[in-house]
Amino acid sequence: MSNLIPTSYRQGAARYIGRIAPSPTGLLHLGHAATFWTAHQRAQEAEGKLLLRNEDLDPHRSRAGFVEAMLEDLAWLCIVWTPPMVSQSERLALYREALDRLLLAGHSYPCRCSRQDLARMAHAPHDDHAAQEPDDERVYPNICRPALREQHLEPAFQPNTNYRFRVPDGAVLRFTDRNLGPRAFTAGIDFGDFLIWRKDGVPSYQLACVVDDAAMGITEVVRGRDLLKSTARQMLLQRALGLTSPEYFHTPLLVDSEGNRLAKRHDALALRTLRERGHSPERVIAMFQASAIRSGT
Ligand code: GLU
Repeated sequence: MSNLIPTSYRQGAARYIGRIAPSPTGLLHLGHAATFWTAHQRAQEAEGKLLLRNEDLDPHRSRAGFVEAMLEDLAWLCIVWTPPMVSQSERLALYREALDRLLLAGHSYPCRCSRQDLARMAHAPHDDHAAQEPDDERVYPNICRPALREQHLEPAFQPNTNYRFRVPDGAVLRFTDRNLGPRAFTAGIDFGDFLIWRKDGVPSYQLACVVDDAAMGITEVVRGRDLLKSTARQMLLQRALGLTSPEYFHTPLLVDSEGNRLAKRHDALALRTLRERGHSPERVIAMFQASAIRSGT
């Protein structure tokens, strides 16, 4: 493999290396705390390391102020991580290298459909919102997908272009989640050709995550179970790039006492708000542990 994997991370692959990967697009809330706390516990139990990745690729929604707030909230929760913090906005060259490899190998193609086109075709009123949640990216109707024999005709990167990953239709992605047990997803049914690069010059979450998990030598990814389909997509990218998949541990979604999913961007559940209301870190940890028990995983 080329320089996707820096030498500093190549040694000691057997040792546990976990990560937490917040996006600085808002304040950390109870759901983040639950996932990050689990990641922290698992790294401690394995006597391994926990790295911190600042997923600040969205130029419109990322704010330096949220990075500061996130660091403060992590310290308050006593989540210990090993510096230096990795910021994705400083690693664009690595993601471009991965995109070029995928293009050359015929795994990716340019897509000229706009988000509005896709929403119109699907008559999907919620599409704008869904696009912000990686797992909800709807199955692409393959409008720009070239015939296989023409796939190699446009291998060179063009600016201002969206690129999609061509999924092998019908392939079943199986993995044994360390928390949820065996899982299986079918390419072309559970998810379709997904975006890996956006025309504003940034990689999608899926591509950046795969490149960084490999480059940082991550051995286990702990994240919310709302990202299970993203895990399947990312396993396809790992195969296409010749990367080893880490292990996965998906955490439960938090639910309230009636069993309703706690909304992701609920201000009242921001760690900051809970702290200002006088909650201790121990109380916050007890809150999400109770919720995880209610959700049954
Ligand atoms: N930045 C992503 C999120 O906050 C990270 C997901 C992951 O752990 O891969 O949802």
